[in-house]
Amino acid sequence: MEDMWYTFRPVIRFRRKGEKTMINFNVPPFTGKEVEYMREAIQNQKICGDGPFTKKCSEWIEEQTGTAKCLLTTSCTHATELAALLAQIKEGDEVILPSYTFVSTADAFVLRGAKAVFVDIRPDTMNIDETLIEDAVTERTRAIAPVHYAGVGCEMDVIMDIARRHDLMVVEDAAQGIMASYKGKPLGTFGEFGCFSFHETKNFSMGEGGALLIRDENYIEAAEIFREKGTDRSKYYRGQIDKYRWQDYGSSYLPSDLNAAYLYAQLELAEEITQARMERWQQYWELLTPLQEEGRIELPCVPESCTHNAHMFYIKTKDMEERTRLIDFLKERGVHAVFHYVPLHSAPAGLKYGRFHGEDKYTTKESDRLLRLPMYYKLTADEVEYITEQVKAFYEG
Ligand SMILES: *Cc1c(COP(=O)(O)O)cnc(C)c1O
Repeated sequence: MEDMWYTFRPVIRFRRKGEKTMINFNVPPFTGKEVEYMREAIQNQKICGDGPFTKKCSEWIEEQTGTAKCLLTTSCTHATELAALLAQIKEGDEVILPSYTFVSTADAFVLRGAKAVFVDIRPDTMNIDETLIEDAVTERTRAIAPVHYAGVGCEMDVIMDIARRHDLMVVEDAAQGIMASYKGKPLGTFGEFGCFSFHETKNFSMGEGGALLIRDENYIEAAEIFREKGTDRSKYYRGQIDKYRWQDYGSSYLPSDLNAAYLYAQLELAEEITQARMERWQQYWELLTPLQEEGRIELPCVPESCTHNAHMFYIKTKDMEERTRLIDFLKERGVHAVFHYVPLHSAPAGLKYGRFHGEDKYTTKESDRLLRLPMYYKLTADEVEYITEQVKAFYEG
């Protein structure tokens, strides 16, 4: 009985006469097993970092992705900061990334003194336009940071080829990309480093959290040191040395085992969670296809080379004005739909720390008309049906 609180669902379910419908945009994933595992972590008397559940999560991710090493972190932002440290990004360096992304993709490099060089996105996937990257490379360019928007992979063959030819590091922002792949290879495993997020808005969550994927074993030792306040405590914990010491600069990027326990419950059910999301995504797609065929809206594009993970379902309206009206219309009918990134290059810090290379043909225009519909584990078929009915009502009314 003491665990009853977690059966409470923070969403008023389906409409009943006179009752207000409210379908949230996001509900943090929860399977039921989290509480049991967190209790186990407490009983283990190991709630700091790198306990048994952290190990389980890292091993699960290593197995699932085939990466050489996975280090659980306190966020995807911190995983990207670790990657920037490992890539030895410094003052005056340049990093190429899309402007249509979350701030963390840029922050991690800017924090090391680098300049963010933004290039335009492709209108179909909202990912960085791989054909524009090479032109943005200068003698100061050190890295490319592609973002796999909505769990749909960037053109990694082209990006890796540019990186090889110009001797650049690739840090994949795969915050939204767990369980998704490009040409059969998991997102986050192409570049030197890949970064996952387990924020509560992502497919699997630990509240706040993330993971750094390391492709090349040679970086593992340095990564462990940066992550453990500049010490070799990771080696000490494994019994490889008898005392740990300060080896380098660093910070504290390891999450509590309590959070890892929460995450592990979801990783165990990763297939089921992904499957449930995919079904809702497919349902949105089918129910909204008529509106796309009538030319009223556009639906997301998943290139043949990509297997996505139903991280997000978005539509594109005619323009921002129409989007604002649709958001209000849906809100009145109890559906919480939201827009996404304000392009970084136009934000105050973007102006200060970045520059846009080439023409902003799609970044601003496409971001202005993109609208995200509710998507989460346990979103029901009835709810998706209700949501799509409201979208149709908006265009038919
Ligand atoms: C969520 C997200 C992040 C940040 O993840 P945190 O775990 O909150 O630090 C970074 N990049 C992208 C593309 C994201 O979607």
